[in-house]
Amino acid sequence: MKKRVIILGSTGSIGRNTIDVVQSLSDQWEVVGLAAGSRSSELAEQANRFRPEAVALACNQNGANLTDSLNYAPSVFSGPTALEDLVSQVECDCVVTAVVGVGGISATLRAAELGRRIALANKEAMVVAGAVLIPTARRSGATIIPVDSEHSAILQALQSGTQSQVRRVFLTASGGPFRTWTREAIGRATVEDALAHPTWCMGPKITIDSATMMNKALEIIEAKWLFDLSDEQIEVIVHPESIIHSMVEFCDGSVMAQMGAPDMRTPIQYALSFPDRVPGPSDSLDFAALTQLTFDKPDFERFPALRLGFEVARLGGTSGAVLNAANEEAVQLFRDGAISFPEITQVVERALDQHTICENPTLAELLSADRWAREEVKRCVTC
Ligand code: MG
Repeated sequence: MKKRVIILGSTGSIGRNTIDVVQSLSDQWEVVGLAAGSRSSELAEQANRFRPEAVALACNQNGANLTDSLNYAPSVFSGPTALEDLVSQVECDCVVTAVVGVGGISATLRAAELGRRIALANKEAMVVAGAVLIPTARRSGATIIPVDSEHSAILQALQSGTQSQVRRVFLTASGGPFRTWTREAIGRATVEDALAHPTWCMGPKITIDSATMMNKALEIIEAKWLFDLSDEQIEVIVHPESIIHSMVEFCDGSVMAQMGAPDMRTPIQYALSFPDRVPGPSDSLDFAALTQLTFDKPDFERFPALRLGFEVARLGGTSGAVLNAANEEAVQLFRDGAISFPEITQVVERALDQHTICENPTLAELLSADRWAREEVKRCVTC
């Protein structure tokens, strides 16, 4: 019998890559649910092709459009709880959470409550709600497998030792488009500059996050929750070739690195096949053509977001929700031309400074910290 997968965020970059992977594993996996935010015509196109039992659209207005564009009659959910409803009502072996931003949290939490395997591409869910997600998964027996390439690499490296044998984890960072830029040049960076990522082809939000290195800050926090690490056990190392996706150092000094061509289909497939490995569509690495792999210390002066990542990993509580929400708002303001590139991180830091942390938050408290941070950012920028 084929394994059943639900893809939340199927029209985005990770979602489309997931569909590629599932297609190449079509003798083992079938798509039983697809969900998107507002792109109803793309969702309908995918649904008509793969004929899942159910489709969901978070945006209410386009719900009717979706139904009209379908050439068969699956269950259709629409509106703010559509993704959660889909997860609740369709049996599956794995939920791929590839929704961008905080909108994916409730559905991810629902999948955790139901004890599903979660292929987690929505890192925001872990950054914002790790304090709730991890204990929920532990209670229900849900397995959370990261799709983020760095965290997939860490998980793969961890297979060669035990948790108590881990000394350090090295999160590799490409350094983004501004790796070699001076502080002054970064100060004048435009939206187009920030969207030109050297190695990874990704959606616009995460591409700007890698330009500020806020993406790495989010990944520090994500790693802390996923692998139960302290902030002292996490190091960031700049590795522009993006061939080593991350490394784990064990207590005996051995370092395990996971390498591969920069192709998101590899970590997506591993999240489905874990702990097994199966042949997949990714290219083989050509070591002779690589010539060199380079490493550099991260520059906390030019990329102050990194410092915030470590700070929030240490602080915990509601601070992750504030960092993430303030950053989402700040990135949007930058894309709208309302703030400069360096102001993205400054605005996030200001919101963190203004926030009173709640130590052991509930999901409601986390979501309320999220809303507060968004208001705070808008207030700061307009005044
Ligand atoms: Mg990543």
